[in-house]
Amino acid sequence: MVMRAAVFHEEGKPLSLEEVPYPERKEGEVILKVRAAGLCHGDVHLVLGEWSGDLQISPPVILGHEIVGDVVEGGKKFKDGDRVILYSSIGCGKCKYCLSGKPQFCERVSVVGVQRNGGFAEYVSVPEDYLFKVDGDPIHLAPLADAGITAYSAVKGIKRGDSVAVIGTGAVAMIASQMLKSNGADVIMGGRNPSKLAKAEEMGIPTVMMKRKDNMNMSQTLFSYSQKKFDYVLDFVGSQSTLQDSMWLLSREGELRIVGEFGGYLNVPEQLIVLRGLKVKGVLYGSFEDMNGIIKSYQEGKFNTMPVPYKLEEINDAINDLIEDKIIGRAVITPSSD
Ligand SMILES: [Zn+2]
Ligand SMILES: [Zn+2]
Repeated sequence: MVMRAAVFHEEGKPLSLEEVPYPERKEGEVILKVRAAGLCHGDVHLVLGEWSGDLQISPPVILGHEIVGDVVEGGKKFKDGDRVILYSSIGCGKCKYCLSGKPQFCERVSVVGVQRNGGFAEYVSVPEDYLFKVDGDPIHLAPLADAGITAYSAVKGIKRGDSVAVIGTGAVAMIASQMLKSNGADVIMGGRNPSKLAKAEEMGIPTVMMKRKDNMNMSQTLFSYSQKKFDYVLDFVGSQSTLQDSMWLLSREGELRIVGEFGGYLNVPEQLIVLRGLKVKGVLYGSFEDMNGIIKSYQEGKFNTMPVPYKLEEINDAINDLIEDKIIGRAVITPSSD
């Protein structure tokens, strides 16, 4: 049996649409018919070879780590026809991170759609223990699997009334800002893309635009606009430019949370951290508990996942649109035609 898939062969080249063998199902796995798979900046980093120094990936591999599918070959917990969402970081199952429900930090982690075949295909075989039952439109649900859970993990512990600066306008930042607003935090979003900021404004999130001609970096722009410091700064970009001065934007005992992976350096005088009691935290994906949390928040209607659907044949267009910063929300690939 064969299926259609978008295969990653070589850095810097478009994904190749091919017929490939139907997935082999291993012990503890179920086969999903992929209904929707989100396209993440991580996929673009991989396609462009921007992570080749840090991440072992051996092509050919089918990318796609943000997956919602219907079980077609069930196992012990899930039966045929169940709609599920995938927690994509598959751990060893034995270390302290795996045992505490945080396999994203496992030393032996293997990410579906990165180190093993993922969701830009009609079918995928995945471990049953990493699936969560969901109901609803798969195109809207798919972004929960990565953007959503990461947003959930990024805003954890932020309370009503806390002041929060969100840096970035991608899917994760959009979901996080909506959650913060719905939870009563005082949020402002800083970015550069006018159409994305307009979309955030439409959802009731105040925004400020960084303009090149102002000669200010993002933190300076946010400060000059709001004239205050923040309890939290959430950096969904993580570039040199966004990290520059971001700790200066924090109130006493404030916390910088870095989520984006654009490879910047954080250069901070230690006395700033000590004298003001500041904290820095890296946010990588989320825990099993966060996956349950984001599914619940979604069902409660706290945010829109803002999907932008593309067919499997259009995947390279979706990648280009993402690179050109044209996608407002999340590009979601729909590999099954029926
Ligand atoms: Zn991702
Ligand atoms: Zn482990």
